[in-house]
Amino acid sequence: MARYSGPVCRLCRREGMKLFLKGERCYTEKCGIEKRNSPPGQHGKRRAAKLAGYGLQLREKQRVKRTYGVLEDQFRLYFESAERQRGITGEVLLQMLERRLDNVIYRLGLATSRPQGRELVRHGHFAVNGKKVDIPSFLVRAGDTVSVRVRSQKSVTIQHAMEEVKGRGVPEWLQLQPEKFEGRIVSLPTRAMINLPIQEQLIVELYSK
Ligand code: SF4
Repeated sequence: MARYSGPVCRLCRREGMKLFLKGERCYTEKCGIEKRNSPPGQHGKRRAAKLAGYGLQLREKQRVKRTYGVLEDQFRLYFESAERQRGITGEVLLQMLERRLDNVIYRLGLATSRPQGRELVRHGHFAVNGKKVDIPSFLVRAGDTVSVRVRSQKSVTIQHAMEEVKGRGVPEWLQLQPEKFEGRIVSLPTRAMINLPIQEQLIVELYSK
């Protein structure tokens, strides 16, 4: 399936929640969902009727997929892998998505959004434990160090992102040393550390049918 290339605020309105796809704009009153929180399209308001059962489960899956910018096939692979691991499947699934390098870059404040994080990783601006990694889906491990490569430390985009998101804070499972352009994965995130207002159990129910 091709990656969505239309207006991203439309995705947030469709999901009825902020997916934080546009960087700093998402944190201001210019945010599309702050202005108009109803599904897009002529019949949007009617579609906003209360969902139940399958509809609710599907929406929850779409929200998570769109938040992390993952396509259907890849998302299913994450789910299958989470199912095979020890722990609560829904929580393991979210933990894997959080461990993606593009997400870590965003969470550390080295990019203003996950889509920007993905683009910066693809362009080869980062290293994990000193080795260049340009795969956005690369999964970090506890103890890893993620750094901006020396030649990229002057990147206006990265410097701008670090300046813009300074006040946003870094989740407790990560540690940022901005002066070194470096972050550390202190531990893997628990569900309580993942700030995402979704019910992952609904996704498990959807795929378990
Ligand atoms: Fe979503 Fe960001 Fe657009 Fe707001 S500004 S609707 S959070 S993408």
